[in-house]
Amino acid sequence: MKRFAIGVVGLAAAGLTLGLTTGPAVGAPAATGPLSGITIALDPGHQLGNSNPKFFEELARTHFNGVETKSCNTTGTATNGGYPEATFNWKVAKQVKTQLRALGATVKMTRHSNSYDKWGPCVDQRGSFGQKVDADLMLSIHADGADSSGYGFYVMAPAAVPGWTDDIAKKSGRAAKRFVKGMAAAGAPRSTYISNQILVTSTISTLNFSDVPVLLLESGNMRNASDAARMTSASGQAQYADWIVAGVRAALRR
Ligand SMILES: [Zn+2]
Repeated sequence: MKRFAIGVVGLAAAGLTLGLTTGPAVGAPAATGPLSGITIALDPGHQLGNSNPKFFEELARTHFNGVETKSCNTTGTATNGGYPEATFNWKVAKQVKTQLRALGATVKMTRHSNSYDKWGPCVDQRGSFGQKVDADLMLSIHADGADSSGYGFYVMAPAAVPGWTDDIAKKSGRAAKRFVKGMAAAGAPRSTYISNQILVTSTISTLNFSDVPVLLLESGNMRNASDAARMTSASGQAQYADWIVAGVRAALRR
């Protein structure tokens, strides 16, 4: 329970554990902490309303990402029981935000709701959000929809695309290695289907549009029974948040 070993900050985290959402130490960055002076851009992947037919036109908007032309965004995946990835990403990201702020970080989010009546933002806007808020690290939180036999987390990092990501590819790759190590050390199951739990790719707009070191986390496989059980429970989502915070701290060497 490392969250209780950080003094005053631990009080905020303890309050969170008890389900309290208000209190002096929650929300605002702690004056001092291992992440003070750090800005993190958090991107809860997708949006619940991306599956709402009334937003079909908005979701079909296209952009060129340096390698290929992509649509605005997608619905994301779901568990076999129908629990949407957008909701998992949102619930975990909110807890990650609270924990990172309690550790002293400034945290900025690419979306502020999870609603069937909202769509986007488009992935090109998500990708360029990190530089907009002058982030030290951009983390996009997702979950995978792979063959049901595989489980565990992995991270996507940008390949060096000339004029797009050649300035951040190396830094992102190093951050990815540290993130994976930190998240696994905290107890998160490593992906059984992505070697070394890192996928370097040139086709993901959220990565290609970034001008700051960027990672896209596939937290687990929503089509796998054991991952899905963890992803859909409150205690499991809290566990993911703890693991992700450990990964962020490792990536930033804080
Ligand atoms: Zn996703």
